[in-house]
Amino acid sequence: MRALFQLRESSISSLIPTMPQGKPAGVPCVQLDEQMRCKVFGQPERPAMCGQLQASVEMCGDVADGGVHARAWLMRLEELTRPG
Ligand code: SF4
Repeated sequence: MRALFQLRESSISSLIPTMPQGKPAGVPCVQLDEQMRCKVFGQPERPAMCGQLQASVEMCGDVADGGVHARAWLMRLEELTRPG
């Protein structure tokens, strides 16, 4: 759950370009392109939290599943860290 603690300690909510009110849980980031790639990857406006999130077996799973495990894991984190 290290990543969960990182998410709580380093809020992503006010840092995503063009999402000044933050990214609600369950809503895709506006910086994702049609291939689900980050449009600001490698650019200074990419939120620091995004760069700090480290891949792990816990997050990504231990088999290549095309990201199914990771998406489910991240959606659960969003629900767990949803304000209020
Ligand atoms: S890595 Fe890019 S697409 Fe993903 S949340 Fe951060 S800004 Fe959005």
